[in-house]
Amino acid sequence: MAVLVTGATGFIAQHVIKELLKQGYDVIGTVRSEAKGKYLSGLFDSTRFTYAVVSDVVAKGAFDEVLESQKDIETFIHTASPVDFQVKDVQKALLTPAIEGTKNVLNAIEKYGNVKTVIVTSSTAAVRDSSGNRDPDERITESTWNKITLEQGLASGRLGYDAAKTFAEKEVWRFAEKHEQNFNVITVNPTFVFGPQAFEIKDLNNLNESAEMVNRVLKLKSTDTIPHHVSRFIDVRDVAKAHVEAVKRPNELKGTRLMLLSYGCTNELIAYIINQHFPSVDIPKGSMQTHEQQLKVGDMKWDNSKTKSLLKHEFISLEDSIVDTVQQILDAKECNCAVKKKL
Ligand code: NAP
Repeated sequence: MAVLVTGATGFIAQHVIKELLKQGYDVIGTVRSEAKGKYLSGLFDSTRFTYAVVSDVVAKGAFDEVLESQKDIETFIHTASPVDFQVKDVQKALLTPAIEGTKNVLNAIEKYGNVKTVIVTSSTAAVRDSSGNRDPDERITESTWNKITLEQGLASGRLGYDAAKTFAEKEVWRFAEKHEQNFNVITVNPTFVFGPQAFEIKDLNNLNESAEMVNRVLKLKSTDTIPHHVSRFIDVRDVAKAHVEAVKRPNELKGTRLMLLSYGCTNELIAYIINQHFPSVDIPKGSMQTHEQQLKVGDMKWDNSKTKSLLKHEFISLEDSIVDTVQQILDAKECNCAVKKKL
């Protein structure tokens, strides 16, 4: 029996697939083109990995063909969704692909194939409220929902992403309720995901949105002001593990939102860690004191103890995650410089 993973070229999906292959699963990844499929097959280099082309998740019936033709897909992992906070047309670039893409997945599963477990990569964007009415003392748990409306989502790329993830996830739980007896439905809701790419970086100008957050700190000059940012963090390898746990224990995890987050993070702390481990990098020092002050004011009251007790594994520390991320970026820079010198 096989696992299908949509958006196989993505930062998170590549780690999920790598982990699934490591654990002996057959994996079918959907990609937007033949060229991307061939490239990925080269990276995974496994006879257990195959790909199917789904050029746009928005197209009506986008996933019908793959499920109609491949009857051995028992688990369907839907990760494909745009992550871009700088978009101009929020409806077209974020809301429609997230929501219609998810509906197309669910419709195909309902109509064809033998899928038993549906795992959808949602986000803490669907959990913590960004409607403007958030109670700062509210404990944010696996059962909390963002109260944002679609109209509010249209105001900016950031809010558009929150609304896209919220309304896409609502479709998933509507489906789960309707098909309680037929499917195991699980969502994975990570916060900002850092950590190394699954394979060495070929193009530093094309990093995914959350990896670019770390790269932006690395691009600062020592005289620059560190941009203010407060969030929680989770490492991509823990996100992959959570998806694979859902594949392995569908009955036990059925109906849960695995909310993945650990340490509080600021750009000050990222800069501080980079300086500690890579002293030759010429970026602002980063201050632990400023980090703590910013976190005190900006952090929210997260509680994902339910997820942690279900997953039973320690999350990778921010320090290890940043070090691995930065090392990989520096290796890619060195490699690019060597190529340029040769030319
Ligand atoms: P990513 O690297 O940008 O990957 C996104 C994937 O979705 C890519 O495979 C992309 O294909 C595909 N995709 C986007 N729009 C599509 C469309 N219209 N039709 C077909 N495929 C489309 O992002 P990621 O960080 O891995 O995120 C994956 C999932 O995790 C998303 O659902 C995201 O919302 C969620 N998530 C991410 C984070 C984070 O911090 N990274 C946090 C919470 C949740 P191409 O490669 O061909 O463009």
